[in-house]
Amino acid sequence: MEMNVTRRQFLKLSGAVAATLAVVELGFDEKKARAESSDFKIAKLKPTPTICPYCAVGCGILVYSTEDDVVYTEGDPDHPINEGKLCSKGTTVRQVYTSEKRVTKPRYRAPGSDKWEEVDWDFALDKVAKNIIETRDRTFIQKENGITVNRTDSIAYLGGAALDNEECHLLQKLFRAGLGLTYIEHQARI
Ligand code: SF4
Repeated sequence: MEMNVTRRQFLKLSGAVAATLAVVELGFDEKKARAESSDFKIAKLKPTPTICPYCAVGCGILVYSTEDDVVYTEGDPDHPINEGKLCSKGTTVRQVYTSEKRVTKPRYRAPGSDKWEEVDWDFALDKVAKNIIETRDRTFIQKENGITVNRTDSIAYLGGAALDNEECHLLQKLFRAGLGLTYIEHQARI
């Protein structure tokens, strides 16, 4: 009889078999061990699949979380790129959530000021939009040496590894076709 087993099921199965053998060989009470295993930190948590934010490899990660905490993260065994493995950076991805240095609100440093102050999202987004439009209108070049160029050299855009193809396509349309930027780069290419 042919049985179709996914990679994750296989790993779970092999883990369960190995654990059972170890338990029997060491003379432990298997039922007790099994009951206690349900108290493991992540036993009752449903993993949420996501993509590592650090580089363009794009490894899959499973995030085990409660309402207000990220309890554990691990490589996604079903992900075609990393098949459950993670590099040292990806392994520490939980720190994106737990680090004391994590910035959770937008910050603004006014011209001439030497300190950052927390602002709300409405202020931050309005400020960014206003600065982009003002800079673009002030520096826009329609023609150069008689040739239509329709560009600005005064704004640059830097993308990140977590952007997917569709997001990159939309960003290119906005920044290159819409605003006339030529300096468009990607963090993973630098
Ligand atoms: S786990 Fe490592 S290799 Fe994979 S995407 Fe993250 S940083 Fe890149």
